Amino acid sequence: MSNNKYKILIVEDESNIRSFMATNLEANGYQVLTAATCQQGLLVFTSHLPDVVVLDLGLPDRDGLEFIKTVRRSSMTPIIVLSARTDEADKVSALDLGANDYMTKPFGTAELSARVRVALRSNRYASVAVASGGRFILHDMVIDYDRRQVTIKNEVIRLTQTEYNILALLSAHVGKVMTYSAIIRAIWGSADDGSVKKLQVNMANIRKKLGSKPGDNMYIVNELGVGYRMCDENL
Ligand code: CA
Repeated sequence: MSNNKYKILIVEDESNIRSFMATNLEANGYQVLTAATCQQGLLVFTSHLPDVVVLDLGLPDRDGLEFIKTVRRSSMTPIIVLSARTDEADKVSALDLGANDYMTKPFGTAELSARVRVALRSNRYASVAVASGGRFILHDMVIDYDRRQVTIKNEVIRLTQTEYNILALLSAHVGKVMTYSAIIRAIWGSADDGSVKKLQVNMANIRKKLGSKPGDNMYIVNELGVGYRMCDENL
């Protein structure tokens, strides 16, 4: 299938990384737009309305986090942030501000294409399924939003209300990394000192009930120190 209709905006000041990504994405049939500063990125974003943004957080004029804040006031376009291995806190801030995903430098072409595909898919797919009271299907697992029921190989998985809510939330953002605090806010409304622990306990129970073994990423990926992601078959 041609990717011609999809526009990817790359905001990155390092020209070698920018052209590495542009070349690769163009070879995959995407239309690529580039910007080297935050301000330029925002201008291109507003004038071209790309389908996905790949955003470096360390930009010369303004922090990449400012880009996310500005864009999220008016748009849910998926944003994949690029960060150095040392920028753990920045990564979490970016996700909390509404970025969908992150890649740690250095990354390869296979990872770049996979993450762009996931971002495009999550944009089109998830909210529609929830809004229509439809079903979410991943491998042999089916989440039926109308009946609030989860099955694996047609066997009903007995989840508590909270466990179901967490699973449904992650599925509604398939492919997107959800931080601990974003999940906690959505499920319990507010956070206290024990919230992350409470979430981890619930998640351990969910994974056990889904039959996942430790380290097994078939349904849910544990993004260590950051949060969780509902798997996408592309990743
Ligand atoms: Ca940079």
